[in-house]
Amino acid sequence: MIQPKISVQNVYYTYSSDGLEALKNVSLDIYPNEIFVLFGPARSGKSTLLRLFNRLSDLLEKGDYQGTILFNGRDVFEPGTDIAALRRRIGMVFAVPTPLPGSIRDNLTYGPRMAGISRSELPDRVERSLRLAALWDEVKDRLDESAFALSGGQKQRLCIARSLTLEPEVLILDNPTSGLDPLSTSMVEETLHELKQRYTIIVVPHSVQQAARVATRAAFMLNGELIELNDAGQLFVHPQDKRTEDYVTGRFG
Ligand code: ADP
Ligand code: MG
Repeated sequence: MIQPKISVQNVYYTYSSDGLEALKNVSLDIYPNEIFVLFGPARSGKSTLLRLFNRLSDLLEKGDYQGTILFNGRDVFEPGTDIAALRRRIGMVFAVPTPLPGSIRDNLTYGPRMAGISRSELPDRVERSLRLAALWDEVKDRLDESAFALSGGQKQRLCIARSLTLEPEVLILDNPTSGLDPLSTSMVEETLHELKQRYTIIVVPHSVQQAARVATRAAFMLNGELIELNDAGQLFVHPQDKRTEDYVTGRFG
């Protein structure tokens, strides 16, 4: 038996501001070296769930959380959890690429320097993370140029590279291609396939088509509930639940 990287067990989450039950009894396991796709219409609870994994949820209002989330078999809400370390091990990339002011190189050395990585190790980290994010060839001769000069797709791959400089185990990408053109989107998708060799990848896709293109396994969420989870080859071709089928075939959402 392979141990799940992340195990979600009977998780409920209610936002205190509006009393809204954003997650209702969600259980699922995510395994090493898969691209796990979490998809469904807006407001189905996807981001709420992902923010619990590395406790980014702590930075928002305190909602009512119940259930258990294990990372490598350990409860992430256990008292005494090192949250900074947890966030290094479970990295996150968001919808809008947000490079830091400064050069391409600065973007990639900032995190490691904060984490106390020695200067002599930085050039290696920069090159390795850029290669993994499939951006090295495009930027290797301009590392000292401003990150803002990059195209949208390059910026997003830079953000992926940046999260890799801290050598995470899991990389969560919440709608990473929402603002990108089709060519940049396909480059980011190809990057994901490379990354899954080394990491556990969790993606919220921007469309059902993208979900089907990138997923190893996929989970369909609706109104805070997990409706269906299966291998991508099954879920997109033979959905078992009528609601999944309606969504996958474009009948709603
Ligand atoms: P998704 O990522 O699938 O679009 P979300 O997790 O963002 O879904 O939202 C699920 C529900 O929780 C929505 O009804 C949304 O309005 C609510 N919600 C999300 N974030 C917050 C927040 N910070 N405060 C209050 N309610 C929120
Ligand atoms: Mg979301």
